[in-house]
Amino acid sequence: MIIILGAGIIGLFSAYNLLKEGKQVKIFDSKNISGNATDASVGMLSPAIEAKPGENELYYLMKESKNIWNNFYNDNKLRNKTGLKNNGSLMVALNEDDEEKLKFKQQFFKKIGYECNLLSSSETLKLEPCLNSNIKSSLFCKDQDQVNTKTLKNFLIEEIKEMGGEIFYGEKIRKLTLKEDKSVTFNELNMEFEKLIISCGSWSNEIISNSFGFKFPLIPLKGVSLLVDSLNDQLNYNLWFRNIYVAPRKNGKLAIGATEEEKGFDDSVKLDELYFLTKSIWESFPKLEEFKLDEINVGLRPSVIDGYPILGPISNTFPNIICCFGHYRHGILLAPITAEIMTKYALNKNVHDKYKYFSPSRFNL
Ligand SMILES: Cc1cc2nc3c(=O)[nH]c(=O)nc-3n(C[C@H](O)[C@H](O)[C@H](O)COP(=O)(O)OP(=O)(O)OC[C@H]3O[C@@H](n4cnc5c(N)ncnc54)[C@H](O)[C@@H]3O)c2cc1C
Repeated sequence: MIIILGAGIIGLFSAYNLLKEGKQVKIFDSKNISGNATDASVGMLSPAIEAKPGENELYYLMKESKNIWNNFYNDNKLRNKTGLKNNGSLMVALNEDDEEKLKFKQQFFKKIGYECNLLSSSETLKLEPCLNSNIKSSLFCKDQDQVNTKTLKNFLIEEIKEMGGEIFYGEKIRKLTLKEDKSVTFNELNMEFEKLIISCGSWSNEIISNSFGFKFPLIPLKGVSLLVDSLNDQLNYNLWFRNIYVAPRKNGKLAIGATEEEKGFDDSVKLDELYFLTKSIWESFPKLEEFKLDEINVGLRPSVIDGYPILGPISNTFPNIICCFGHYRHGILLAPITAEIMTKYALNKNVHDKYKYFSPSRFNL
């Protein structure tokens, strides 16, 4: 039996894959934790736009995961239930400074093998008439898509239960007590297990330090996002501006992200965060006054010092305890490939060397 701690997107996707492989899976989470990253996420699936110089391994991982998302697009049930869209993105320049940055970005895209076109103001407005008429230009980015994270999470929970997986919501897990790496005790439960996957996002370190006496260089990075009702015409594309990005959902709502700050585990909404988001929307959109605010969401992105997730056995002493966290701002995009890697570790299959780059052993703890 495989035990998974944490029912965010990473724990759920891993469970979904393992159940499809015929494994028995139990997932443990807690309702006493607020600020999970998944519920605040905008759900952009944009490997090229998210790529950064010097992060090649991460870019290849994001691209590989996006290919899995592209295959999901042919699965009618998954596509309809999760709000997965292959609508592409426009990176919009509001002025000359923005346009210079876009041209620089286009050069960088070329270097990583991703081609896109710079569109004039009128070409952009033809594609997206709702935009401010005084925009300067845009980069048209194919294959940079989105999924509705909340409906995706509901879909996974339904599928997991249908396949016989069990999800328990109890007290927060603080410590694991292990017997010979084969049985585990936490929250007064004792269970035998084959593998135990820790996917508690930003909170993973607390369990690890209480149980194993060391910590990974992992911190929470707070993000605030908004959900608004766009009473008017739907937008066609995902839009990326200097400070914010907007994902038009299939249900007519717009998900708008996001702030990014180091604030520990604080998950309260501060006025300066709302000011930043509303000011940025006002600068970018002509019809702000018509938008009805539906939700303000706060999430803590699990962020590792080198920007890469931590995937693999925690140590040689505990080879059956698998780390699976630290997906920072890419967890939705990376969930399918993460689940495939986790399945290989859980089934003791050969894991390709390219994934060992993300192993916990890189920190020599
Ligand atoms: C504002 C914002 C926008 C984002 N936009 C995007 C985007 O557009 N595209 C993208 O790919 N990514 C995006 N991300 C990043 C993405 O949301 C995260 O990388 C991803 O959700 C991490 O998933 P997770 O399952 O590891 O963690 P979480 O979603 O935080 O889930 C962790 C789970 O573990 C449980 N848990 C934690 N500790 C314990 C414990 N001790 N005991 C029991 N249960 C526990 C929690 O209750 C929670 O359910 C965004 C994040 C934010 C905050």
